[in-house]
Amino acid sequence: MPDDQTAAASFATAAGGTYDAIIIGAGIAGMYQLYRLRELGLSVRVIETGSDVGGTWYWNRYPGARFDSESYTYGFSFSEELLRDWNWQEHFAPQPETLRYLNHVADRFDLRRDIQFDSRVTAAAFDEQARRWQVTLESGERLASRFLVTAIGPLSAATLPRIPGLDSFRGQSFHTYRWPHEPVDFGGKRVAVIGTGATGVQIIQTIAPLCGQLTVFQRTPNWCTPLHNRAITEAEQVKIKAGYPAMFELLRRTPGCYIHDTDPRGTFEVTEAEREAFWEKLYSEPGFGIWMANFRDVLTDPKANALFSDFVARKIRQRVKDPATAELLIPKCHGFGTRRVPQETGYFEAYNLPHVRLVDTRATPIERVTEAGIRTSDAEYEFDMIIYATGFDAITGSFDRIEFRGTGGQTLKEHWAAGPKTFLGLMSAGFPNLLTIVGPHNASTRCNIPRCIEQNVDWVTRLLGDAQQRGITRFEATPEAEADWSRHIEELAEGMLYTQVDSWATGINSNVEGHNIRRILQYQGGAPAYRARCDAVADQGYAGMLLS
Ligand code: NAP
Repeated sequence: MPDDQTAAASFATAAGGTYDAIIIGAGIAGMYQLYRLRELGLSVRVIETGSDVGGTWYWNRYPGARFDSESYTYGFSFSEELLRDWNWQEHFAPQPETLRYLNHVADRFDLRRDIQFDSRVTAAAFDEQARRWQVTLESGERLASRFLVTAIGPLSAATLPRIPGLDSFRGQSFHTYRWPHEPVDFGGKRVAVIGTGATGVQIIQTIAPLCGQLTVFQRTPNWCTPLHNRAITEAEQVKIKAGYPAMFELLRRTPGCYIHDTDPRGTFEVTEAEREAFWEKLYSEPGFGIWMANFRDVLTDPKANALFSDFVARKIRQRVKDPATAELLIPKCHGFGTRRVPQETGYFEAYNLPHVRLVDTRATPIERVTEAGIRTSDAEYEFDMIIYATGFDAITGSFDRIEFRGTGGQTLKEHWAAGPKTFLGLMSAGFPNLLTIVGPHNASTRCNIPRCIEQNVDWVTRLLGDAQQRGITRFEATPEAEADWSRHIEELAEGMLYTQVDSWATGINSNVEGHNIRRILQYQGGAPAYRARCDAVADQGYAGMLLS
């Protein structure tokens, strides 16, 4: 039995490195969680690897990084004053604007005083006797807290390709996630980009006009569609501000918390002319409407999906002058929308530039990085710079890098070895008082992420507020609740075409040992259903959890 005296010493002011709550990460999730836990009067410490706030938007400084969500749908919704005062400049804000925004939030709510920067959590172990998490930093510093909240992001464990010779290259090389703070000069340089996901697409289209020569190494093409970004006019700004309440209401109802909602019609319920006109309209409109507001069956019925994929393929053929290059850029092994759709601005036209070339690494695999460049199975290429747009050990990778040790000494990595096991995507049996915002099995990784982050954080805040009021010092998901939720996650994914495709969303990463088997990592029931589930658990006195 835990010592009740020790346990009751909860909710005290922080002393000697002991807090009510430690939050790992000072991105959007960690910042908002700090704000909310302060409101409860808890002592909170945020531990952040970077030197400032922003998470994803702090690290991803590569040229061309920008939102794929409409800016005004992405910002925090919790403060009317913040909504009133902040003027987004573009419909899809570039990274510097977003980072400015997050700095503004940090200043406005004086968040930095509780954030410890340049600090990486390497391990956290639950002390059953004290009912506390003992947290160890890379520096060797040790802290403790009653509750531990992870806000470590689904795409923050960047992965370099497993290609021999990476260190031998004598030119400049960068992973897009670890982009330098200083400007990078592309003028006249021979540049290679490996990777054509959403990141690769953004950087390729942005730097293509700047480089002396650009060579893109593509393993799998993606179904990219136009972003149609532009500046927000003054009249639009007024309309956006006045429309915030109605807009947030809409975002609560759509499956991914975007302004785009599924069209209720089936692909084959309309005439060919109507279908074509509707798809032309979607292709000409900004943002993710083409993915999220398409016919209801495009992501579930293989025939509907194939027909729409043909439509997008035609667009690519129209835009890319060289037919052989166009064919390489058209995905053949997966249908539209079964992987994250990169949003582009002149991406396909970049391949019409005489100094841009595309190398198909399935036909001619990269064999090694050399001192001078890259060697494929049939050629030697010389470069001044290599850019790795090679993605992330997604969703579970950021958890795997920290040794979370729960009751009985088991680590979270061991517990999740055959795939994540969670309750609500927010906790795991055997890991008391640990809350995983934007963790696996959570709706937030298929969401306009700040909207789902706010839901996650509000739910966690409600739980910790209730714990504070009722003197609860330990909570934990039951193994039965965890098994039920994990089964529910599998059931929701049945029939979704995306489960039959390799991508980070299905846990595939050729650069991580063992990540070659697809896993169900995301909640597919949509954000409204997810929110209802979480609320029901809390309303029923945290059914599925043991509280003491
Ligand atoms: P990604 O989608 O995982 O793409 C990584 C790319 O690198 C893929 O093309 C992959 O090829 C390639 N690659 C990896 N290892 C390779 C190797 N050894 N040899 C050759 N090619 C290799 O990663 P990402 O582009 O960074 O995007 C990840 C996610 O971040 C996106 O899906 C999106 O959710 C988010 N994101 C958002 C925005 C935004 O909001 N605007 C922008 C950028 C990213 P394969 O496909 O064959 O594996």
